[in-house]
Amino acid sequence: MGEDKDLIGIRERLVEQLRALNADVVHDLDSLGTEDGTHLADIEDLAGDSSSDAVIFERFRAGGATLDQLQRAIDRIDRGTYGICEECEAPIAAPRLEALPFATHCIDCKRRLEAEGA
Ligand SMILES: [Zn+2]
Repeated sequence: MGEDKDLIGIRERLVEQLRALNADVVHDLDSLGTEDGTHLADIEDLAGDSSSDAVIFERFRAGGATLDQLQRAIDRIDRGTYGICEECEAPIAAPRLEALPFATHCIDCKRRLEAEGA
């Protein structure tokens, strides 16, 4: 029950975040192009201002999301594979998806992959 509705909500959130991230990247590139002496420190300032896009952007950077991760999560919703582990095809636990909407692996596989990669 309500699963499709949840997915639609998640998708909307992801698209919103993707848009905010995109807008900020474009905005940053704009200011880089028009002002000399603009560098990374100024982008940090932009991310810290009080506009809602900047707040979303900041949150996402804190969460480590990238445009690519967001785009892939949206693709997975569209293909109907969202919330399915790419490794073992088990459903990814709901609390994990809530914390990490773009997670591609269940916690067990993620841990194993990280252990192997370390
Ligand atoms: Zn798995």
